[in-house]
Amino acid sequence: MSKVLIIGAGGVGGVVTHKCAQVADVFSEIVLASRNEDKCKAIAAQIDRPIRTAQVDADNVAELVALLEKEKPFMVINVALPYQDLTIMDACLETGVHYLDTANYEPPDTAKFEYKWQWAYQDKFKQAGLMALLGSGFDPGATNVFTAYTAKHYFDEIHYLDIIDVNGGDHGYKFATNFNPEINIREVSAPCRHFEDGQFVTTGPMSLQQRFTCPDGVGSYDIYRMYHEELESLTKHYPTLKKAQFWMSFSENYLKHLEVLVNVGMTGIEPVEFQGQQIVPIQFLKSLLPDPASLGPRTKGKTCIGTVLRGLKDGQEKTVYTYNICDHEACYAEVKSQAISYTTGVPAMIGAKMMIEGKWMQAGVWNIEQLDPDPFMDDMNRYGLPWHAIENPGFDLV
Ligand code: NDP
Repeated sequence: MSKVLIIGAGGVGGVVTHKCAQVADVFSEIVLASRNEDKCKAIAAQIDRPIRTAQVDADNVAELVALLEKEKPFMVINVALPYQDLTIMDACLETGVHYLDTANYEPPDTAKFEYKWQWAYQDKFKQAGLMALLGSGFDPGATNVFTAYTAKHYFDEIHYLDIIDVNGGDHGYKFATNFNPEINIREVSAPCRHFEDGQFVTTGPMSLQQRFTCPDGVGSYDIYRMYHEELESLTKHYPTLKKAQFWMSFSENYLKHLEVLVNVGMTGIEPVEFQGQQIVPIQFLKSLLPDPASLGPRTKGKTCIGTVLRGLKDGQEKTVYTYNICDHEACYAEVKSQAISYTTGVPAMIGAKMMIEGKWMQAGVWNIEQLDPDPFMDDMNRYGLPWHAIENPGFDLV
């Protein structure tokens, strides 16, 4: 039985709050805090358990410390933005509170996400006897756990990893992003990096594409190679990997809009002067685009996200595809959110549950693949993200 403080009342924050509320024997008390408390109250009103709310600016360590001292939670589930990771970690250290997030730190003025800033907190968390669990969403998150689980149960050594993230959902808008537009557009317009022969290789954004057919009738989609943060930790923790790539599906329509927005400068992160005011183009664009939290009631279709691992077992080459399929409309019916927020929020709840139950509790800063995958995989089946593993699925990936 533990009290949690969830920070961030966006699409993911809504799902985490719903899912923690469903597991009352673990999450005995829930406080939801965000920059705008009205958003917290709107989420709390959807839930038939008391959820307390608070206002906090998570860029401000002193404000965070005051809130943590007042609430004294067991842990913080950080589902604000990647910009707030370090301030929240600092506040957790100052107040003796455990920490979990779903996305690695990104400095606001450089579109570059890396683990180095958070890994640098290792000694501080160890000395304080506190745990920080990094990347407990779906990707990163479930995909790291799939990798750890498959490596543990199916292989002696893994050599090739492909993470494939397909969103077959349709929200009916000409252009919208499924999670925070600023974070999403920074991620997809960045140069691609994949791991090959012991190093990261950089290629142009979206410069490699292939067709992928999902199982169980989800459909065939164009998937594009791009950089994703879990490649950094997985290649570090699985040094036998010779190649690791991340692929995401995009519709022609999405890419056409994105290309124009990039070309006209609307995705820029440097402030520009407009009529005597400094504005950041991508932040202005965000204000024009639909709020990802509003996509829930309109989105139909399914996501299919998983890992394809190739390696050796008893001297024989084999391939294992591990995946989850999630239905946008079913997610909305359950927690008033589309599947992208759902597939992120459920693993955040499960990661917190692993820490509270002591199954994963250990001092220090940990990427999720470093912990035992088995209890997490069991809970994915139990709490709405059932998975399957197929041996030798017959894919012919680039
Ligand atoms: P949203 O933009 O919908 O929500 C973010 C929330 O954080 C908003 O409520 C926002 O407040 C709040 N927030 C922003 N800045 C601050 C601040 N300084 N202080 C307090 N609250 C703040 O994003 P999502 O819910 O889509 O994403 C949440 C996180 O999940 C992000 O870090 C994202 O990168 C991550 N993510 C991870 C995935 C994974 O699979 N690992 C997949 C998808 C997302 P306001 O409403 O006022 O703007």
